[in-house]
Amino acid sequence: MVNMKEQQLEQIMKVLSTIKDRSEFYRNKYGNIDVAKISSKKDFEKIPFTDKYELREAYPLGLQAVPDSEIVRIHSSSGTTGTPIIIPYTKQDIEDWAVMFERCYRMAGVTNEDRVHVTPGYGLWTAGIGFQNGAERLGAMVIPMGPGNTDKQLKMMMDLGSTVLCATSSYALLLAEEIAKRGIIDKIKLKRAVIGSERWGEKMRRRIASELGVKLYDIYGLTEIYGPGIGISCDCEDGMHCWDDFLYFEIIDPKTGKVLPDGTVGELVITTLRKEGAPLIRYRTHDLTRIIPGKCKCGSEFVRIDILTGRTDDMVKVKGVNIFPGQVDEVLRDVDGVSSEYQVMIDHLNGKDILTLFFETGSEDKAKIEENVNQKFKERIGITFPEPSLSANCREARRSPTASSITVTESHGSGCGRERPHLFKVYSGSR
Ligand code: ZN
Repeated sequence: MVNMKEQQLEQIMKVLSTIKDRSEFYRNKYGNIDVAKISSKKDFEKIPFTDKYELREAYPLGLQAVPDSEIVRIHSSSGTTGTPIIIPYTKQDIEDWAVMFERCYRMAGVTNEDRVHVTPGYGLWTAGIGFQNGAERLGAMVIPMGPGNTDKQLKMMMDLGSTVLCATSSYALLLAEEIAKRGIIDKIKLKRAVIGSERWGEKMRRRIASELGVKLYDIYGLTEIYGPGIGISCDCEDGMHCWDDFLYFEIIDPKTGKVLPDGTVGELVITTLRKEGAPLIRYRTHDLTRIIPGKCKCGSEFVRIDILTGRTDDMVKVKGVNIFPGQVDEVLRDVDGVSSEYQVMIDHLNGKDILTLFFETGSEDKAKIEENVNQKFKERIGITFPEPSLSANCREARRSPTASSITVTESHGSGCGRERPHLFKVYSGSR
């Protein structure tokens, strides 16, 4: 279990001692719970989690924990599922965020000599402006592009000699493809790319890195907790260091809420230690990852979380084993001849869990490839496909001459009829 540092406990106690006075949201949420008395990690872990829907219910400014005179800005989540979440920031919050973001750049080897090409969006989003403030604090030159207009992006990139690209993985790939298509790679000066906000596969990562000739860094963050920049990968490429002097990180079992030991995959839960405008206690991110045990070879003492495995909504149980999309990705990327696009379908039919994996292969020897996938699945995930062969009821596989599919079926309990299939589909190679 991740050790709560003494300083973190002190900060948490300090936050909790006044939270009910400062925040109407937490005053209502905690009711009779006397959080001001909490003085140990064990007690802290009994405090109820804060969830996204509660933040939505607090729309518009129900999370604000300081007087209006202290709020200098708001940001908002995109609100794809309905009401957006509004996060108010004080001057200090903006400053703290920039401090964290500057650290990210430093960890990625960016200096004040660099020219930072920012393509994430500006506006209500936390993306663009977060990348900008951190780079300015570092003293680098910011090129505040925002997304879109590929012609202009590439022109500015060449004319100004951008050395650092900040982008989502899909946009970085799009730019990489355009650069290759136009044959202008020798005019591009990029050395590093800071990539954020989406889960992306290893094959896509390798492609962006090789086509742009850059070193890639994964940046982590979410609007509810400042924005991007609360953690980043280092040169060791073994997870992302997170700034645990500003935030406290826990991994919980998304079903039971129990805190999990280091190294075990679960849901990331974050507590803000210094946030003024909208402090959050035990906030459930719904991101699946694990805390990487031990010290990083780079020497940094900051806690590491693994590259995101997926979202809790994507977690499925087959044969009693929890499976995350990222694990399938890991299996497939290590089998030669398999494309980076795949689809997993989980079906519950007559009391049986049926997992069908679709992937594409350019190889003639499908049987061999299926056997290899099966072997890796067994090693990594612990389940096997009993009949790795072209499935008879697989229309999609038959439609495409290069597609392959294998199915695992398990019987459990009495027949429960047909339920809606759980399906996740990840395109990690090309769009
Ligand atoms: Zn490191």
